[in-house]
Amino acid sequence: DINSVIREIIDLLDLEAVRKDARVQLQTVSPQIFVNADKQKISQVLINLISNAIHYANRDKAQITIKTTILKNKVLVTVEDNGMGIKPEVLPRIFERFYRVETSRNRNDGGSGLGLAIVKHILDAHGENISVESVYLEGTRFTFLLEKSN
Ligand code: ATP
Ligand code: MG
Repeated sequence: DINSVIREIIDLLDLEAVRKDARVQLQTVSPQIFVNADKQKISQVLINLISNAIHYANRDKAQITIKTTILKNKVLVTVEDNGMGIKPEVLPRIFERFYRVETSRNRNDGGSGLGLAIVKHILDAHGENISVESVYLEGTRFTFLLEKSN
């Protein structure tokens, strides 16, 4: 059940979210949605995406929304934030190993630039893509599909 996994991760990251004054919520079409996927690996994907969203939040009312939707035989998962956004010229690079946007590199906060490379690797292994849309200084949305289980 992808929704229960998402709720677990929201709980796990609650302390970080509270510290950043960020609100993290799940919006879904059904209480439970079952997928065919590696639970540990998909938990790691969600941890990496949601912790980035919390980490790169930059406003008082940081809002992070995870949405799950059913599409025929797939489940669409989106993680969106209203944080600092990513400039279009660096957006294609963020899934590269060790790549960090200039502003993040300068933060000296111990990030290694591996989180999104791991996300991409895990979704590749599930036969799925990850896509990103971002508006600089407004926010970012990551989207991926998982195989629905009946
Ligand atoms: P770590 O290995 O600890 O995750 P990281 O967060 O820097 O380090 P990635 O998670 O791979 O590495 O992200 C790469 C870069 O993409 C980040 O350094 C940051 O500049 C940018 N980024 C990722 N997610 C977001 C987001 N939600 N909003 C804005 N920028 C982001
Ligand atoms: Mg990260």
